[in-house]
Amino acid sequence: MNRKAIHIKSFGCQMNKLDTALVAASLKDSGFSIAENENDAIAVLINTCSVRDRAEGKVFSHLGNLKRIKRSKPELVVAVFGCMAQRLGKELLEHEAVDIVCGPGQIPQLTKLVAEAIEGKKQILAVTEKIRTESAENPELEKFESVYDRSDAQIPGQAYVRVMRGCNNFCSYCIVPYVRGPEVSRAPELIIEQVKRLAGKGVKLVTLLGQAVNAYQYTDGGKEYCLADLLYSISEIDGIEWIRFVTSYPYSRYYDEILAAMRDCEKVCGYLHMPAQSGSDRILKAMNRKYTAGEYLEMLDKAKEVVPNLAAVGDFIVGFAGETDEEFEATVELVEKAKYRNCFVFQYSPRPGTKAEERLQDTVAAEVKRARNIELLAVQERVSDELAKEFLGKEIKVLVEGPSKKPFLNSGDGVQLVGRTAGDWIAIFNGDEKLAGEFVTVKVTRVSPLTLFGEL
Ligand code: SF4
Repeated sequence: MNRKAIHIKSFGCQMNKLDTALVAASLKDSGFSIAENENDAIAVLINTCSVRDRAEGKVFSHLGNLKRIKRSKPELVVAVFGCMAQRLGKELLEHEAVDIVCGPGQIPQLTKLVAEAIEGKKQILAVTEKIRTESAENPELEKFESVYDRSDAQIPGQAYVRVMRGCNNFCSYCIVPYVRGPEVSRAPELIIEQVKRLAGKGVKLVTLLGQAVNAYQYTDGGKEYCLADLLYSISEIDGIEWIRFVTSYPYSRYYDEILAAMRDCEKVCGYLHMPAQSGSDRILKAMNRKYTAGEYLEMLDKAKEVVPNLAAVGDFIVGFAGETDEEFEATVELVEKAKYRNCFVFQYSPRPGTKAEERLQDTVAAEVKRARNIELLAVQERVSDELAKEFLGKEIKVLVEGPSKKPFLNSGDGVQLVGRTAGDWIAIFNGDEKLAGEFVTVKVTRVSPLTLFGEL
């Protein structure tokens, strides 16, 4: 067993991917290496997600395997970090496989905790005790973000930059405000410095992250900064060619300013990921979302008017507590009207500790949730197909990610590459592997609902 090799498994959203990259960079800085698989590793770290029941289920099944491995390999260290670690805390530490439980606010300590556990210290709990009342400022985390902002664990030419942490929205089904804590926006100068450093390392696309990223707000010397200010400032940075931001909550505050920045800054991609979650006003109210379906559609229409060629992306929960057939139909109608480039559909699962789990009955049967999921995706597929066809015969600018994992094309020169457009459409074409991290122009020859196929 290599006593310096660490294997990291990561579940969940972009926030988690970023945390995993930061932890990997910190481990490498302390002389550890990152192992491709767990066989030879001295420690296995699992970055967890609590948003859905299934995500937690996967972690438990993995912990079950690790428990068996540890019987023949007792020196193996297992650390669970991220949202599930914060949610379950001590309870998780009681699992036979687990040595370290580390919340999202404690990830700067994780490398040290892993080193201590390798030396024999076990049963380490590092979580925030009173996450909604303790000070949300976390200077240690702030420093950690700035020091380990490398892009080496991510896709060539791309990096995520967190602009804010936490959430204050308390959507009734969501655990995030209870595990990531209150909203804290990072100082604009720290973000801008960080993006400059990343640009110096060859990053061309930067994605600004926040649970509700358009709530970004920072006051300094009497001046209030919002996301639009960040977009203008980052646009000035040499080397950065594309800027995206995710995920947006349908807030009216700062909306016009942000849309104006998207229109005015060539580098800001015409991409808006703004979850609606439902098309029924009663369900939206029960979800504690603070808009109606009509208001949401008005906001989306405004965005399409102001930002040319806007690619909109939505998220939906089907089968939320008490959702009737008519209420689901209202969601179908919204998806038809919204004309998303794509949308993500999730089946409702009550999360312990949320208001929906406490107060509302999970009445919709599993097979009904599944059927609604399939139906909504089919509606979206038709919309995506129509939108994709508009690209036929056109030339598109693509940022190359690297060789594609699935073989779609079987002719042409070079390997099959995958890349993305500014609107985040997937593009597949043949070319040289060395193009990873570069921009290319692709002529679209064929499309499927989510993918544009073409040639250089
Ligand atoms: S905006 Fe709502 S769904 Fe998103 S993280 Fe906050 S509480 Fe959860």
